[in-house]
Order: sequence, then C-alpha cells, then structure tokens
Amino acid sequence: MTTQNILTDSFGRTIDYLRLSVTDRCDFRCVYCMSEDVRFLPRAQVLTLEELATLGQAFTELGVKRIRLTGGEPLVRRDIVSLVSRIAVLPGLNEVTLTTNGSQLQEFAKPLQQAGLKRLNISLDTLQQDRFSSLTRRNKLDQVLAGIDAAVAAGFERIKLNAVILKGRNDDEIVPLVEYARERGIDISFIEEMPLGQITEHDRAATYCSSDEVQRVISQQYPLVASTEATGGPSRYFRMADSKSRVGLISPHSHNFCGACNRIRITVEGQLLLCLGRENAVDLRAILRRYPGDTEPLKQAVVEALQYKPERHRFDVEDEPQIVRFMNMTGG
Ligand code: SAM
Ligand code: SF4
Repeated sequence: MTTQNILTDSFGRTIDYLRLSVTDRCDFRCVYCMSEDVRFLPRAQVLTLEELATLGQAFTELGVKRIRLTGGEPLVRRDIVSLVSRIAVLPGLNEVTLTTNGSQLQEFAKPLQQAGLKRLNISLDTLQQDRFSSLTRRNKLDQVLAGIDAAVAAGFERIKLNAVILKGRNDDEIVPLVEYARERGIDISFIEEMPLGQITEHDRAATYCSSDEVQRVISQQYPLVASTEATGGPSRYFRMADSKSRVGLISPHSHNFCGACNRIRITVEGQLLLCLGRENAVDLRAILRRYPGDTEPLKQAVVEALQYKPERHRFDVEDEPQIVRFMNMTGG
C-alpha cells in the first residue's frame, strides 16, 4: 500500500513546508546561536547528499511544496549546489529556498540561482564593523555586504534579509537596516530572539526587543501598511508606500503563530522535529540507513509521527525548561 500524499496533523493543519538542516558547521559564531568553542558533529552522523535528496523526494511525495535548506551555514557544505539542483527538479515542489549568513555568496550566488534556487534569505544584524565582529565573533562584514550585492546581481526572484534585534546591541539600527534593504529593492524581516541553546554572552530577558517595538520605530520614519499576502510562514508582512521592499516581523514571543503552523524540520542528524519549541523527534536517519533510497518506509514514519505534532510551542512559559538544542543543529 502506498502512503497518502497530503500531510495533516491531529489539529487539522496541512504540512507543506519542510526546513532541512544540511550541516551544523558554520564559519560564524553568532552570540545568540552558538558558543565560541562549539563542537561539531563527526561527519558520519550528518546526513549525506544522497540521504538529503531521498528525504526531499519522500517529503514532496507527501505533498510538501516548499523546502528550505538551512543549518548551520549551508554554504560550508561543498556539495550544496548539487543538492539544490537535485531538489529543485522534484515533481510537485513549488520552490527550494536557502538561508545563509552571506559570507560565501560572492562565489555561490550565481551557481545557486542557476541550480534552481528561487529565493534567498540572508542574515544581517548590523551594518557596523565593530558590532558585526562582536555579534558574529568574526570580522567578515565586508564579505557579507559584497555577497548581498552578488545575490542581487544574480537575479533571484526574491531576496530577504533577516535581522535579529537585541536591545542595547543593535536596536538603534532598525531604520538603517530598513533603508539598506529599500536601496536594493529587497525585503527585510526582524526576528525576536528565541530561547534555543544555552548562551553565555547576554541575558536574553534583558536584550529582548519585541516586534511591536520594531514596528513602532519603523513606522515613525516609514508608515507601514499591513499586507494580506500569505507567505506560508510565520512572518507578518508590511508594505511601505514608496518602496517595493516589504518589512516582515517574526514574533515567536509576542504573537503566537502556532495555529497556522505548516512546517516541520529535520535536523542535521536526520531527526524529524515536529515543533521548533519542543523536544519530541523521530529518527529518520535510522530509517534512511536501513532502507537506502527507499521513500516508502520514511513516508510511513512521517505520517505516523505527524499525529504527535504539538499544538503550540511554549517559549512564553517562564518555568518551562529551555530547549537545549542550538539553532545550528535545528536549522533556523
Ligand atoms: N547560517 C545561516 C544564517 O545565519 O542565516 C542559516 C542558519 S541560522 C540558524 C538561521 C536564522 O536563525 C538566522 O537568521 C539567525 O539569525 C537565526 N537565529 C539563530 N539563533 C537564533 C535565536 N536564538 N533566536 C532567533 N533567531 C535565531
Ligand atoms: Fe552560523 Fe547562522 Fe548560527 Fe550565525 S546564526 S552562528 S551564521 S548558523
């Protein structure tokens, strides 16, 4: 018997969006994401190109329409362009997208676009050298800015910047970042920091900056009009009258978006995560290694697991234990 081709959970939500983490490695050490002395996984524990491609096939057979490749930093994987080209041609898939820190886009923007990548998210929290070095613990701002220019030149359908705003560290750059995006005709989303992994460098409660505050600051300069465009993600989008750039707000703390959650994630070790904010997971790598190249056992496991997708995350409950996974394992 073949498995059904639409994924729904026990709350009636249709799951058509998969975020696939392709590596836990990264050339940056962003303070909200990983510690300086992070230890990466032995390569044998990370999914191979073949395994990632088989997962992509299984999930599109199950009705997934969008796959986002993330990490860690996806562009540190040497086979990333071939992975994109294998996933981009899967029947039924509307698009493959990727999230990157931008440091290697000068080399990879064009090959990725030619391999079939339609949209690109690039993380950028600051336009100031010293802050960039302290937030990412690496001195590569010029490389990232040149990478963004290369991406604009490569002709993607859409490019979006992602900025995590931390009170007292970069909250005075909200408007300059919007202006940087407007000058290039690209979108920008502001993200509230999430409690993923134990970090040492700042107190998350003290640096918390709500999306409402970000919205207020931008509106003083550029009035924002709520957009009805559905993006199939947790962003709420706004438009400005005099620009084609859109502003997105991603608010895991202040605006719970779980009711419309259409996504699942696979970690770099092949664990299927049913919710970013919960610990429950299913080991798809074990199935992939037991039945190489066979999508049927994978699909059965996924359909069964989905019945356990939780109704919502619990980032808002203070005495709820924090998630010990770091974002680079999970795929942001
Ligand atoms: N390395 C790539 C990058 O930085 O874009 C892709 C992976 S990164 C984990 C994906 C996104 O997650 C980035 O935009 C990053 O800023 C965001 N991120 C990482 N840790 C976070 C946290 N604790 N809270 C909110 N966003 C976070
Ligand atoms: Fe690397 Fe992205 Fe995490 Fe920064 S947010 S450390 S770039 S994986």
